[in-house]
Amino acid sequence: MELRKTKGRILSGMRPTGKMHLGNFVGALENWVKLQTEYENYHLIADYHALTTNLDTSELLANTLEMVADWLAVGIDPSHSPIFRQSQIKEHTELHLIFSMLITTARLERNPTLKEQVRDLNMENITYGHLGYPVLQAADILLYKGNIVPVGEDQVPHVEITRELARKFNAIYGEVFPVPEAKLTNFARLPGLDGNKMSKSLGNTILLSDDPTEVDAKLRKAITDPAKIRRGDPGHPEVCLVFTYQQRFNATQVPEIEMGCRSGQLGCVECKHRCAAAISRQIEPYRLAREPYAQNPALVMEVLKEGERRAHEVAEQTMAEVREAMQLGG
Ligand code: SF4
Repeated sequence: MELRKTKGRILSGMRPTGKMHLGNFVGALENWVKLQTEYENYHLIADYHALTTNLDTSELLANTLEMVADWLAVGIDPSHSPIFRQSQIKEHTELHLIFSMLITTARLERNPTLKEQVRDLNMENITYGHLGYPVLQAADILLYKGNIVPVGEDQVPHVEITRELARKFNAIYGEVFPVPEAKLTNFARLPGLDGNKMSKSLGNTILLSDDPTEVDAKLRKAITDPAKIRRGDPGHPEVCLVFTYQQRFNATQVPEIEMGCRSGQLGCVECKHRCAAAISRQIEPYRLAREPYAQNPALVMEVLKEGERRAHEVAEQTMAEVREAMQLGG
């Protein structure tokens, strides 16, 4: 493969949650596609991380194949950006073990993201593995010597743990790891059809693989301004979820829609049809592009195997450096 000059190496990952929805697209995938031309990207499928909140592994593979089909469909180019499963590169667990000796449980308990998760998932007890997931994340990043970590503001504490671990390892055993920089990225959040966070478990998603009829049917159920009951009632687009989608997917028509909504001339039914059509215009090429992968998952598996081969080469080299620095082995 031709070597490209890039601004640095990025590791971005996602848990294998199956088919991707618009929230995944706006919040991550769209950015990944843009970043792959400037940076050297490694795309990790965080199947071990998935175990921190769900021990059922029966659908992991199927969900992985569905998710990667969408990644490829939106334009992640695996010849530039290897796509691989965390569980298939054993060096992740090895480096995780070493890093787990370099950080205290008190430090991990202070992790604000963990506190939020415990509160949101109503968890009484968390596992040893869940407490340590930022350590596994640090291993994920540093195994590939990622020097840039694109994050939203809420993820900065995690990057801090990765930086601390890199510094501590280097101070004790010698320079092996870069100390990665957080690249603050504006990861837009797109709410689900009920106004909550878009999530499969809440049943409020629009999938990238939904066809125009499905998108239209889903949009019909979307919440709008409760004060606008029928056509003729003046509406308040600023409190309407459909308007948020219009702004994101139908920008050119927004001024006219806003005026129509406020004056009452535009009814919610028509507005939703127009919004659904605009969303479908954007995602239809992705739905068509994923078809060959959906019909033949062996194609996705080939991409994974090749990504895993390339990722393993880097991971193996890093671990050789780690062992040498630690004087492990002979
Ligand atoms: S007309 Fe459109 S923007 Fe206005 S409240 Fe109805 S759905 Fe929302």
